[in-house]
Amino acid sequence: MRKAYKTGKLVNEVLRDVEFEIGDGEFVSIIGPSGSGKTTLLHAIGGLDRDYGGEIEVDGRSLRSLSDVELSDYRNRFVGFVFQSFYLLPHLTVVENVALPALFARGDRTVDDDAARRRAQEVLDEVELGTRGDSKPTMLSGGQRQRVAIARALFHRPKLMLCDEPTGNLDSKMGTQIVGLFRKLNRDAGITVVIVTHDPKISAATERHLRVEDGQLFDDGRTAAEPAAPAAEPAAPAAAAEPAAEAEPARADDREVSP
Ligand code: ADP
Ligand code: MG
Repeated sequence: MRKAYKTGKLVNEVLRDVEFEIGDGEFVSIIGPSGSGKTTLLHAIGGLDRDYGGEIEVDGRSLRSLSDVELSDYRNRFVGFVFQSFYLLPHLTVVENVALPALFARGDRTVDDDAARRRAQEVLDEVELGTRGDSKPTMLSGGQRQRVAIARALFHRPKLMLCDEPTGNLDSKMGTQIVGLFRKLNRDAGITVVIVTHDPKISAATERHLRVEDGQLFDDGRTAAEPAAPAAEPAAPAAAAEPAAEAEPARADDREVSP
């Protein structure tokens, strides 16, 4: 694919000739300097942007060939997005934040609140925040907030998770834990995970390493990824311990904003 931004007479050819394939169930990072086009690439793969050249095929379908409704269904159900900012709504509880995708489900005019709540609880258990459903996001640490955002992304059982600098607002210990969680979801639920990052340490924790530079994409190959177990916390089963007991930094980082 190719992508250029035009501002007035200026043409910024961000992605000039990008060709690659990611297999079902892979655990991949895309690294590259700031401004190299990582977010641009992720938005195109995620169906957030259709204004590019070339072809993107996901699960056997050309994204270009999808109608608006099909594309929004693809975005909402096939893809789970995780961003650097957690985009949690501060006036809603954790469980309500996680259930938000139910509101956007196509044609779902009458959302079954109970079913949505049950599903939200399930995914909160998956990210080991099962006991924090009634908390407000402001009561959680940065790492916990990102886990809430990941739970929300899991709501519709995505096949593909696209994560744009998901650890960018976290200290390195929290960042490692979040990558461990992605690894667990990749292994246990078979979700294909693509993590965009400019942090070599985060990239090193994935199985395959792509790099965007000078408008092109390079495949830097594969390494054995860190095992999920030590990174995924807490060690105790979700139901047992209060995850807040983990030693996370205080809540000075009040970065909550609405999209
Ligand atoms: P990265 O995520 O790797 O930091 P981006 O994909 O956000 O890079 O941006 C790549 C380049 O495209 C940058 O030079 C940026 O300024 C430019 N760019 C991004 N979005 C837009 C836009 N909406 N309009 C014009 N230029 C843009
Ligand atoms: Mg970016």
